[in-house]
Amino acid sequence: MPSVPPDFRAALAGGLVRWGIEHTDDQVARLWAHHAAVVEANARFNLTRITDPLEAAVKHYVDSLALLPWLRGQRRAALTVLDVGTGAGFPAVPLAEMAPDLRVTAIDATRKKTDFLADAVERLGLSRLEVLQARAEHWRVGRRFDVVAGRAVTSLAGFLSWTAHLVRAGGFIVAYKTARMGPDEQAAATRTGDGLGLHPDDAFEYDLRLGDETLPRKLVVFRRTGAPAAGL
Ligand code: SAH
Repeated sequence: MPSVPPDFRAALAGGLVRWGIEHTDDQVARLWAHHAAVVEANARFNLTRITDPLEAAVKHYVDSLALLPWLRGQRRAALTVLDVGTGAGFPAVPLAEMAPDLRVTAIDATRKKTDFLADAVERLGLSRLEVLQARAEHWRVGRRFDVVAGRAVTSLAGFLSWTAHLVRAGGFIVAYKTARMGPDEQAAATRTGDGLGLHPDDAFEYDLRLGDETLPRKLVVFRRTGAPAAGL
């Protein structure tokens, strides 16, 4: 496995400490190997804009892992998590690697991306995750997940309508957002959610630290109450 540059290691380790996540050198090495594979594949097709190791450690890996302190706040164990629009594997890869008790499934609409990810999981010995090519809104899978998560996929309202049928009653839909998300997007999502049995739950606010910069982020959370609406 390639050796891990000190700045990637330090930035990732710093984030893990802030999230209260213990880690081994092997886990950090596997996330680095994933990053290296993403950068390499990026030369063939677009997977990410962020290739600098330090920036990737913070904006991709530490950010993806913000789901874990939120989950801990829910006091739940052994959850199934669906990552919709995983792209290069965010948040699925860091979550599966750092929280092996989660059962993580990752889907993306683009076959090239899911082929890349399935191959990377196999080749790099990443922690097991299920990778499938599917369009969320057309995916009829016959099971429902405890948590459906998405990062940088579409508007909040759009994400709710694409994924409502994939979350179990009592389960959560979680969107990773920057602080730029305004009240209009939240209001539109609340209206859309109403018709789908999805209701706003507490958002989880956090910030990422990159050098001197503080980058505000939040997980916007909707919860499915009761049984899924007919037809979903
Ligand atoms: N979550 C990743 C990738 C974001 S880019 C990250 O944070 O880096 C958005 C991804 O969503 C793309 O890979 C795109 O192929 C995928 N996507 C777009 N519409 C989708 C849909 N309807 N169902 C599943 N995936 C979708």
